[in-house]
Amino acid sequence: MSTIPSVSLNDGRSIPQLGLGVWQTPAEETARVVGTAFELGYRHVDTAAIYRNEEGVGQAVAASGLPHGELFITTKLWNADQGYDRALKALDTSLRKLALDYVDLYLIHWPCPADGKFVDTWKALVRAREDGKARSIGVSNFRPQDIDRIVEATGVVPAVNQIELHPLFQQKELRAYDTAHGIATESWSPLAQGGELLGDARLREIAGKHGKTPAQVILRWHVQLGLVVFPKSVTPSRIAENAAIFDFALDGSDLARIAELDVGRRLGPDPATLQAG
Ligand code: NAD
Repeated sequence: MSTIPSVSLNDGRSIPQLGLGVWQTPAEETARVVGTAFELGYRHVDTAAIYRNEEGVGQAVAASGLPHGELFITTKLWNADQGYDRALKALDTSLRKLALDYVDLYLIHWPCPADGKFVDTWKALVRAREDGKARSIGVSNFRPQDIDRIVEATGVVPAVNQIELHPLFQQKELRAYDTAHGIATESWSPLAQGGELLGDARLREIAGKHGKTPAQVILRWHVQLGLVVFPKSVTPSRIAENAAIFDFALDGSDLARIAELDVGRRLGPDPATLQAG
């Protein structure tokens, strides 16, 4: 596998552009799956408290023998733990489960605007960064107005905004907002959760032209847009396939055809209405 490039963050750090997502990876399989990814050259893992597999990620890190400085581990604060004190405690719990003394990136998982706690929660993340428990801090599923509020309250711009983003839901406006504010965009469910999109005739044609698979074409599209991706798989051959995307390039006509696949179809919840309770 060729080297995975990095994306620069607004806090002077950088993040590997490709990682492994572990949502819905069963707890008892996580150490094996993440270990396989490390063997294949992955250095970035995206987990969350709510995935209930942080222990497995930590076990794989310990078993790999790789120094933490060569890895990039993200976890996320669950909605029920929003609020200043609860957020700091939740990060300590995640660090204990991961068996790490810091995470590379800590995210507020959802804004839950109706609950009114994300500004205080963001203040806790700023504190966690000052304390060295999170090297970078960011948000997930935040809308422009949510980001504006936390920046107004603290002056601290999130390093990343992790949002649902795939060819069926391309998030042009939110991407432009992030870019204008120096925020890196991470694409969650980059493969549209492996559904019917992978069988799309246009993607298959583009894949055939490059001698690649539709999954590789989609991941390459994210990378060429400057997005950070972490496709999920528990299958070693697919984990390898998903990383073999740095030895070809989509051309302008490929990119234009993929742009046409945008139907504005969300697969996950709407951040405007998801509530903590
Ligand atoms: P995904 O788009 O990564 O799709 C994963 C599915 O695609 C797999 O279960 C498998 O069925 C299939 N797949 C994977 N590789 C394939 C290949 N090469 N060929 C064919 N099929 C393949 O979906 P996801 O897991 O929802 O998203 C990735 C990661 O994003 C998650 O694991 C998690 O880390 C993150 N995420 C974050 C949020 C959030 O709210 N912040 C929400 C959802 C997901």
